[in-house]
Amino acid sequence: MQRRRFLSVIAPLAVVPTAAFSMFDAGEILATGTDPVPGSDQIRKLNKPHREWRRVLTEQQYKVLFEEHTERPGSSPLDREKRPGTFICAACYLPLFLAANKYDSRTGWPSFHTPIAGRLGTKRDFQLVFPRTEYHCARCGGHQGHIFDDGPAPTGKRYCNNGVALRFIPRGETLPALRS
Ligand SMILES: [Zn+2]
Repeated sequence: MQRRRFLSVIAPLAVVPTAAFSMFDAGEILATGTDPVPGSDQIRKLNKPHREWRRVLTEQQYKVLFEEHTERPGSSPLDREKRPGTFICAACYLPLFLAANKYDSRTGWPSFHTPIAGRLGTKRDFQLVFPRTEYHCARCGGHQGHIFDDGPAPTGKRYCNNGVALRFIPRGETLPALRS
């Protein structure tokens, strides 16, 4: 009884800072229309030569993003990232996924069921014997991963992403300006 009364007192107090804080969540920013990044139809493609990307990225980032390599499963700390926030392209910083749409696929790669609308481009890829759907950042063209049909609701899709191709911005931190 004591405990219940205590909870009923602190619960409303606990809600206030959370609600205020969420105004600054990168994910919320996208939903409220103050997202500094325009919609997909307005995303201007960044045609930066590969040799320039090679200068600003690590070797591993470059190999995954611009030579379509795949990182070793379980090698990215982002696979275990569970905090709220936003996943942005590690090359050009375009926000691609919200943490709310990430799930544990137990594959060893960060996995999402839904991307931010219009932020990805896709193509068929025949690197393996069977065709796969490759996806990449709609702005810089950097390779992110492959789409599979064994994901959870609501899409049934698994966006299997290389962690090294993403950067995580936790809730409350400002999204970095797009890199040009
Ligand atoms: Zn990008």
